[in-house]
Amino acid sequence: MASGERYFKGRIFDGKRIIEEGWVAIGNDGTITEVGEGKFPHSGHDIIEGKDLTILPGLIDAHMHFFGCRYEDIAEWNLISGELASVRSVTDMRNLIMAGFTTVRDLGSKTAVHLAQAEIEGDIKGPNVIASGHSLAQTGGNDDLKFLPLDMAKALSYSYYCDGPWECTSAVRKVIREGATVIKVYASGGFAAGNRPLPNLTVEELKAIVEEGHRSGVKVTAHAYGEEALNNVIDAGIDSIEHGIGLTEDIAERIRKAGIYYIPTMSVYMAEKDNHGRLDLLPRIRGKSRVNRSEIINRHVTKEIEIARDSGLKIVMGTDFVGAENSRHGDNAIEIERLSKYLGQEKALNSSTSLAADCVGLDNAGRIKKGHSADLVVVKGNPFKDIGKIRKNAVKYVFHRSAVFDVDAINKVS
Ligand SMILES: [Zn+2]
Repeated sequence: MASGERYFKGRIFDGKRIIEEGWVAIGNDGTITEVGEGKFPHSGHDIIEGKDLTILPGLIDAHMHFFGCRYEDIAEWNLISGELASVRSVTDMRNLIMAGFTTVRDLGSKTAVHLAQAEIEGDIKGPNVIASGHSLAQTGGNDDLKFLPLDMAKALSYSYYCDGPWECTSAVRKVIREGATVIKVYASGGFAAGNRPLPNLTVEELKAIVEEGHRSGVKVTAHAYGEEALNNVIDAGIDSIEHGIGLTEDIAERIRKAGIYYIPTMSVYMAEKDNHGRLDLLPRIRGKSRVNRSEIINRHVTKEIEIARDSGLKIVMGTDFVGAENSRHGDNAIEIERLSKYLGQEKALNSSTSLAADCVGLDNAGRIKKGHSADLVVVKGNPFKDIGKIRKNAVKYVFHRSAVFDVDAINKVS
């Protein structure tokens, strides 16, 4: 037992199961040095204990964006200056760590690779950031501001446009060069133009992206709406599927067999207000009927999550929050509550700890285990009795990179 270790005594959720009475030793180097069950064997050290406290692995949000914007508005996401987005994101980083998030995965923004570096170097406080940098999309694909001349849209976009397998390979090399630690690809459109989302990129193009990503040692994840796009990304060998709108039993079976993670991002659909008036800037495709957006979303957040659960998919927590008014960073744990209604509390907590760590490729986080990094959160109460205890107002301490955040005390003075 090294001197200077800090102990937690109380209820433990180790990422898989709950231990009613146990203890965790946290070394000065920011790793977990011991985990025990039953009576605490040591004395005379720095011990965190209290009535009805639970320690969990630090939470992971596997899909979010540091857009630094105020609205759910793709024009703003693209047009905001990198400087303003970065400054606002420093506050978002702080709010995330104070809410118990010790890892987040940004799937497309101009700021996240820089936030990741600044956090590792200690210049800012926040979670570990896994960043895709620019996302990859086809010309005229998702979030392309089509009312602008193409060169202007390309210059402003948080995506790199790539067409044809070699451009796709090259785009992966470019984002890796810029510091990406995951690749994000748009395999379909969204609802932006009010029309049915179309598949984007061919299987050949998607394969080129997946292969080059894997050759560079990073995971590749795909935004996919609709059956065709879902089948395409499975064929391409993708690691995880974002949103997965349009899931059917047959496709779920393919996803399960391939071992692909499924990230339904329910919260962004449930939180969003119908504030898409600004998107009328985007031309609609004439002659095609508009889809019933709310019907598709309603099926996704009810029936499709049941299909995913009943098919035994590896369902991972991701909010797709962008930091706007109705998807504020710091409120991300609401997705765990939403998942718990379908998966139960234990699986919902797995989805944001151990399973999320596996999905994003962290082999030393998401679990309370000897030798793992001491990314930990202590909450007041028992999240197995009341999943709301995972929300930020119940967070008491957060451990990350050898630092401990006394959230109660910080909130009192700020
Ligand atoms: Zn997203």
